[in-house]
Amino acid sequence: MNTNNNSDNKFWSDNVKKLSPYVPGEQPKINNLVKLNTNENPFAPSPKVLQTIKDYFLQNNENTNAEFLRLYPNPDSSELVETLANYHNVENSQIFVGNGSDEVLAFAFYALLNHNNKKVLFPDISYSFYPVYCQFFNINFQQIPLTTNFEIDVANDYLNYKNKDEVGGIIFPNPNAPTGLLVNINLIEKLCTTYANIPIIIDEAYIDFAEDNISNSALSLLKLKQYKNLLIIRTFSKSRALAGMRIGYAIGDSNLITALNYAKNSFNSYPLDRISQIAAIASVNDENYFQNKRNEVINIRKNLVLNLQKLNFTIIPSAANFIFAKHNNDNKFSGEFLQNELRKYNIIVRRFNSPERIKNYLRITIGDAQQCDLLIEKLAEIVG
Ligand SMILES: *Cc1c(COP(=O)(O)O)cnc(C)c1O
Repeated sequence: MNTNNNSDNKFWSDNVKKLSPYVPGEQPKINNLVKLNTNENPFAPSPKVLQTIKDYFLQNNENTNAEFLRLYPNPDSSELVETLANYHNVENSQIFVGNGSDEVLAFAFYALLNHNNKKVLFPDISYSFYPVYCQFFNINFQQIPLTTNFEIDVANDYLNYKNKDEVGGIIFPNPNAPTGLLVNINLIEKLCTTYANIPIIIDEAYIDFAEDNISNSALSLLKLKQYKNLLIIRTFSKSRALAGMRIGYAIGDSNLITALNYAKNSFNSYPLDRISQIAAIASVNDENYFQNKRNEVINIRKNLVLNLQKLNFTIIPSAANFIFAKHNNDNKFSGEFLQNELRKYNIIVRRFNSPERIKNYLRITIGDAQQCDLLIEKLAEIVG
């Protein structure tokens, strides 16, 4: 929030005066907090990640610790790039790594979505960082309303968009946030072919929580059809439980990746520190752990949905590690009321006041089984 009055801002550039920054979900310091508001993973990262970090500092040579941190990290995160390329079965030149996918997104807006007066299209209910990047980089955009069922209507609103020459790019999360709904991969393919001359960016922050995360991912299109205009963005923050390490990446044609590297190397050459690079590699190398925890979250989600339905909630079908839900009697049990009541029990969930039609929905991160049981117990008391 910009609470500064203008006379205090004489040192500020005009650029900064115009900004209205993204507001992240809160990270309160409360004991026994049941934190279901920012889509973090309820489980720890792979134990191999922690072991790798410990080993890094506990080498036999007592000088090594200092040596490691005295020196700059590899600017291109080459080993991590190679690990990800092998994991996804693409070329090294098709991977770009950044400091969280938020940074990767920022570079993508700057390097690929900014085309003079053309507009970037994205949904009105979506990741709220997209309009913030547009403002930061001075990019025109148009927010396209979701259908009344909260779906992205790709066929009508994007493929049949009237003035296609005005479009400079398309981006949305798949599954979308905060709804959790998936767009069918065939429609994404049609976007790639219909808009062959503009970048199509699919933000797959939550794709690993789709039951079939392989066939629903745009990666299959990239590998089978090699679309030149398709960029996929992934993060270690959600399904790999490494939000605290800030690791994100993009996968796409090497021409798109080169543009991202131009932007990165004109801004910050060392976006990932030494620890993040080795932690990320260790995470990718522990596939069993990854699959187990991914499935655990999916199973807890299914259970939570059933329990909420019993309490008379409507839940949008979610392929993510959160659900978007409202009580059917939202006159009596408004979103704000439920959010405030839950807070009395130290349970925090996220809610958005705009647009108006989502104000009664709670976005609830899938916690561990115990947290979700507690949530249901308290909601039963609140609405019971
Ligand atoms: C969480 C999230 C991100 C950001 O992830 P980081 O890698 O932690 O920066 C990007 N896109 C969407 C849709 C998200 O929900």
